[in-house]
Amino acid sequence: MPRIAYPEPILRLISGLKSLPGVGPRSAERIAVWMLGGGKEKADAIAQAITEAREGIARCEECGFFLLQENPCPLCSDPERQGDTICVVEQPTDILPIERTGAFTGLYHALGGRLSPLDNVTPQDLRISPLISRVQKRRVSEVILALGSDVEGEATAHYLAGIFREKEGLQVTRLAQGLPAGGGLEHADELTLLRALDGRRGMG
Ligand SMILES: [Zn+2]
Repeated sequence: MPRIAYPEPILRLISGLKSLPGVGPRSAERIAVWMLGGGKEKADAIAQAITEAREGIARCEECGFFLLQENPCPLCSDPERQGDTICVVEQPTDILPIERTGAFTGLYHALGGRLSPLDNVTPQDLRISPLISRVQKRRVSEVILALGSDVEGEATAHYLAGIFREKEGLQVTRLAQGLPAGGGLEHADELTLLRALDGRRGMG
């Protein structure tokens, strides 16, 4: 008896969906079948949105946040923001939760990850050199480390504190504890983040 399977294009679609974050094999199959049936129009709209986002969105070379191609960064080019304070986050997605608190009006810098010897993530893999150049160029006086409170976040914070406090002589603070363990800032609610920002402490 020949083994019956979905035709190749459907298998490719399922396999593609399965590789998305948070999508398991069962969901991938269900979404694929939906896309070919009742969800056809929505699927086309999603495909178009993906292409438009891929082609139209760039990353700010300074802070790492998303911006429209050829446009200035809404954060870095805002003259109202204080250029002497820079808040370092792991991912660009960590910027919005902090913005929502309304308590921070300085600049941001997304590292693009955190140090992790187990995953072979070294300082060279993160946007640390651009951070050092920005700090030197902009006469920054305080570096706020808004990194995760897990082991890797801690290691990254200590590495950066070593550079900015010891070598550059700047004030280096980090968010007060109380952020979700092991977590990105996206999981922290506004009030927790606000308190964490207000209660930030010098590293030493
Ligand atoms: Zn920017």
